[in-house]
Amino acid sequence: MKPAAFDYFTPVTVDEAVALLAEHGGEAKPLAGGQSLIPAMNFRLARPAALVDLNRIPELSYVRAEPDGGALVIGAMTRQRALERSDVVRRAAPLMAEAMPYVAHPQIRNRGTVGGSVAHADPAAELPAVTLALEARFRARSRSGERTIPAAEFFKGLLETALEPDELLVEIAIPHSPARSGYAFAEVARRHGDYALVGVAAVVTLDQRGQCADARIALISVGDGPVLATEAAKVLAGQRPSDELFRAAGDAAATRDIDPPSDIHASTAYRRQLAAVLTRRALASAFERAGGEAPS
Ligand SMILES: Cc1cc2nc3c(=O)[nH]c(=O)nc-3n(C[C@H](O)[C@H](O)[C@H](O)COP(=O)(O)OP(=O)(O)OC[C@H]3O[C@@H](n4cnc5c(N)ncnc54)[C@H](O)[C@@H]3O)c2cc1C
Repeated sequence: MKPAAFDYFTPVTVDEAVALLAEHGGEAKPLAGGQSLIPAMNFRLARPAALVDLNRIPELSYVRAEPDGGALVIGAMTRQRALERSDVVRRAAPLMAEAMPYVAHPQIRNRGTVGGSVAHADPAAELPAVTLALEARFRARSRSGERTIPAAEFFKGLLETALEPDELLVEIAIPHSPARSGYAFAEVARRHGDYALVGVAAVVTLDQRGQCADARIALISVGDGPVLATEAAKVLAGQRPSDELFRAAGDAAATRDIDPPSDIHASTAYRRQLAAVLTRRALASAFERAGGEAPS
């Protein structure tokens, strides 16, 4: 298939890009790595009147840790492969580093961008869940100004975010994790590189007594977008890590937090089973990495 006809623009600054988006009043789409948008256009599932290609805007590609324990900041056009290979990411957001190899295949990660993945908001994608678990903040710019959207308000539904049609996602900021935090990512896919049947991104923080002070568990492929398992987090709150606790939290995630779809890839029951098991395993690793005692 070939895409429907479209106009094509190659801005070299963010100001130029947002001006083009504003001029086309919702009929234009930003083009990042093109790994999701171009196939959608070829199948005529997307028919933008214009593409605003972001690939010639160098100011959108960077990864750095802000000084004095500040956030890890990632430009929207940073390639997924650059994130995967970054020592800065490995130190500041190891959950992200752990999840990256699960995103598609190296060829796709060479082109696919961090901003494109979160703006696309596929419920089966890894980065939306990872950014939700890490409480990322998304910086968006339009001709009328700039705003910051917390991850909890960014993902709105199936392939839908809080971005307005004339807004460009410019940066993703990951706050510094408190001391005694641990993380883990786990997923099951039919083949490595396929979209996950179910995945889990978990971040936990221990208090001084070794009890759970905070837990954020985001699940993949179980709803219209990444799903935060708040019921599972309640099971963990104030508790000392144990195998029984992880099992109870996994069961809460699978039965009370999610309402997974049944499709050609997996049934609802199978997705619930995967969610329970993967949540339990991810929590066990996350608590261990947080410096918790070995579970009793
Ligand atoms: C075979 C295959 C397998 C894949 N498997 C996986 C997988 O397992 N896991 C996974 O997570 N992904 C997977 N992907 C998707 C891949 O990660 C894409 O790269 C990603 O979803 C989109 O990123 P992109 O940079 O290519 O964005 P594009 O395709 O260019 O854009 C995607 C959408 O985001 C919008 N957009 C892009 N950048 C911005 C911005 N800065 N501001 C506002 N809107 C913007 C575009 O307008 C478009 O609507 C797969 C893709 C393919 C082709």
